[in-house]
This record gives sequence, structure tokens and C-alpha cells, in this order.
Amino acid sequence: MRRDNRKIILIGTGMVGMSYAYALLNQSVCDELVLIDANRARAVGEAMDLNHGLAFSASHMKIYAGSYQDCTDADIVAICAGVAQKPGESRLNLLKRNAQVFQSIIEPVTASGFNGIFLVATNPVDIMTRITCTLSGFNPRRVLGTGTALDTARLRYLLGDYLKVDPRNVHAYVMGEHGDTEFVPWSQAMVATKSVREICEESNGTCSLAGLEQISEEVRTAAYKIIEAKNATYYGIGMALTRITKAILGDEHSILTVSAMLRGEYGQSGVFAGVPCIINQNGIQRILPLTLEEAEKEQFDQSCQTLKRCYDELEL
Ligand code: NAD
Repeated sequence: MRRDNRKIILIGTGMVGMSYAYALLNQSVCDELVLIDANRARAVGEAMDLNHGLAFSASHMKIYAGSYQDCTDADIVAICAGVAQKPGESRLNLLKRNAQVFQSIIEPVTASGFNGIFLVATNPVDIMTRITCTLSGFNPRRVLGTGTALDTARLRYLLGDYLKVDPRNVHAYVMGEHGDTEFVPWSQAMVATKSVREICEESNGTCSLAGLEQISEEVRTAAYKIIEAKNATYYGIGMALTRITKAILGDEHSILTVSAMLRGEYGQSGVFAGVPCIINQNGIQRILPLTLEEAEKEQFDQSCQTLKRCYDELEL
């Protein structure tokens, strides 16, 4: 990856895409940001709007509405294009509509000679990431989705609040599908190096295992609640995308729960699901397999089965 000019192509300049762009600008994450959308006028307007903020920012980003030819020398192509989730609609129901959108995107990106990393946010994100991998023919380590990165952030925030501890000292993950079958492996949840379950047992009733289960339910249903209240979710995912982008461009080797192709880890193969991964300039440096309990392994298997079934229904 070139380090002199960090270039990102953002496809889909809707609420999610532009929340990501806004966070990139405010955190000075790259040098060049190219906006592409089926609605070109929207991409042009968004580029103008962001550029007008440059004078107030510490960033010298070059921002413009471009075309697929601009992908040639990009480091990251981030895809946020698609149809947004309707109130009450499951993420998996979006699949067919968004698969068509991706066919119109991946082909011109690869035709440009793009040789960087695909980062996908469009829902259902695990399936859309797998579609991106299939259509592009890229090495799966260079194709990742936001997976359960946002769910994990929600979990750490809620746990921090429940246990009265800084979320940055909470180490816990949401795994599996970014959706209804996701789950929290509580055997792996820690505050510093102390198990969250143990903290509950020693808390004299202030915290309980039932309380933990309520938190995982809150995480699982968070998107539905936000959509009910304001029709869409975008700030959180924009920041999750920015965090993943920084890990890639900064060659950080940070651990984030992105959607990655499993190749034998957790006994699964070929399916994309949210798992803790080490992220660096090459994308997914490797998946970090956690030692799950039997019941947790079963939950993970069930989540992967759901994802496999949905992908197979597509008959790509
Ligand atoms: P939006 O409707 O505001 O924006 C979508 C954009 O995609 C529009 O500007 C549209 O013109 C563009 N688009 C559609 N087809 C295109 C094509 N063929 N080529 C280029 N651009 C195209 O929607 P949004 O709220 O920004 O959501 C975008 C996606 O992100 C949805 O699939 C949503 O479900 C998903 N999302 C994911 C997460 C996550 O955690 N992964 C969180 C929130 C939303």
C-alpha cells in the first residue's frame, strides 16, 4: 500500500456514506476522498458541502465527485450504496435488492485495475461482503465488512454503563451475523483481565447474568429501535467505518470484529461472519480464534447456517 497519498473511494453518498465522509474529514484520515453515487448530482453536492468545511478543519483533504476510473490507484473502496432498511424489515430481506446494486458497482471497480481493499457497510453486510468477494475475485483477506464492529461498540458502551467502568476497559465482542442471530460469547467478556461473569457473581446482586442477557438483547435490537425513531442509523456506522479505515491505513494491527471469510476457524468455511480480526494495511492480517464454550459454538454455528442459507438462495 502506498503511504504518500491515502486515497479512499466512497460509493453511495447517502446517510451512511456521508456520515463516514464527515468523520474521515474531521479526523483527517486520508488525503483524497472520491465520492461516487448513482445519483451524480447528490455526490457533487456532498463534495461541495464538505469542501466548504475545509477552511474550518485541520485537514487538507482533496474531495471531489468522481467516477469508477478513479479507483485505479485507491487504497480503499468503501461501499455504502444500497437500499436502506425499512421499519420492521429484517436485514436479510434486503438481500436481493442490494445484490443487484452490487453487480453494477463491483464490475467497474475491478475493471479500473483497483488493487486495494474493499470495505463494505451495505446490509445485510455479511452477505454483501461475500458477494463483493465473489464478484471481484479478490483474495478474501482484502475484502471485509463492518460486521459486528458497531454492535461490539454498542455492547462495550452498555456494559461500561452497567458495570460503572470506562468502556475502553471493557473487552467483549458481538459475534456472528450482523443481525438477528448475532450473540455475545459471555465466557470471553472481560473488564481489564477479570471475567464479567465473575464480577456479576461478586457484586452482591447489583449486577446479574439476567442483566447481561438484557444487554445483549438491547444490542441486538438497537438498530430496529433507532430506525423506528429516526428512520435510519448512520452516525455510529460512519464512525465504525472510520475506525476500520484508520486501522488499515495506519497498519495498526488492531483487533476489530469485522465480517471476514472463515477458512476453517470455528469449524466454518467459505462463510463471512463477524469475528475478532487483526486489521492492518493488507486488510485482515488474520482471524483471532477465541476459545468458545460449547453452547457459544452452537450459537455461532447457527448464525453461520443462517448466513449460508441466505447466500445460497441467491444462486450467484
Ligand atoms: P441512503 O438511501 O441514504 O443512501 C444510499 C445511497 O446509495 C443513495 O445515495 C443511492 O443513490 C446510492 N445508490 C443506490 N444504488 C446505487 C448504485 N447502483 N450505485 C451507486 N450508488 C447507488 O441509505 P443509507 O441510510 O446511507 O444506508 C446505506 C446502506 O447502509 C443500507 O444498506 C443500510 O442498511 C446500511 N447500513 C449498514 C449498517 C451496518 O452496521 N453495516 C448500519 C446502518 C446502515
